[in-house]
Amino acid sequence: MKDQIDILVSLQEIEIESTSVNAHLCSISKRLNVLSNSQNELEQRITDETAKIEESKKKYRSHESDIKQNQVMIKRSQDRLNSIKNNREYQALLKEIEELKRTNFATEELMIDCLNQVDDAEKKMVAIHEELQLVQNDIVQEQQVVGVETGTAEKRLKELDRERLKMSGKIDADLLKLFQKVQSQQVRGNAVVPVQDAVCHGCYVNIPPQMYNELQRCDKLRMCPNCQRIIYWKQI
Ligand SMILES: [Zn+2]
Repeated sequence: MKDQIDILVSLQEIEIESTSVNAHLCSISKRLNVLSNSQNELEQRITDETAKIEESKKKYRSHESDIKQNQVMIKRSQDRLNSIKNNREYQALLKEIEELKRTNFATEELMIDCLNQVDDAEKKMVAIHEELQLVQNDIVQEQQVVGVETGTAEKRLKELDRERLKMSGKIDADLLKLFQKVQSQQVRGNAVVPVQDAVCHGCYVNIPPQMYNELQRCDKLRMCPNCQRIIYWKQI
């Protein structure tokens, strides 16, 4: 029975290592995902800033065309001034010209705002591009590291699979079934645990003295009466 328990413990260790290697593989791919998300986010910001620049340039051109139209109107009105004899009409036209000039002045202010917006967005773009370059460098480096780490992890998983097969072949079929059943029932922790100084190392509860004495004979499979794990005696 001791041999079988030893094999079971080895099998359990193989499974624990496999789980940890798989978790490591998962964390490796997460690391790349985090970088790739940053890259996507920065690229989206570039798209947004580009759209802002285009929008501001479009507004600028529209203001520019408004000013030109107003200038034509101002010129036309100024030409008409000379031919007007009626004072009231003359004053009205002067007022109209003034109004157009004021509008143009306000529009020029808006054009300056547009130029400032383009300037701000372009500055932001430079910073975003620098940040993107850093992230892309990180991705290239990380891909190399991930490649190596993944290769090592996958190789180890194959070795562990081979060892698991070997161990499973050496173990009594019923015991293996029991082990798998106990494993499936355990929310956390191992299915096979040592008992040291009468304490079960699965649930940390004392097992009855009679059972502890019997357990030390290592002649029969025993389960912890408290947590139902497979137990074996381990000398302190
Ligand atoms: Zn227990």
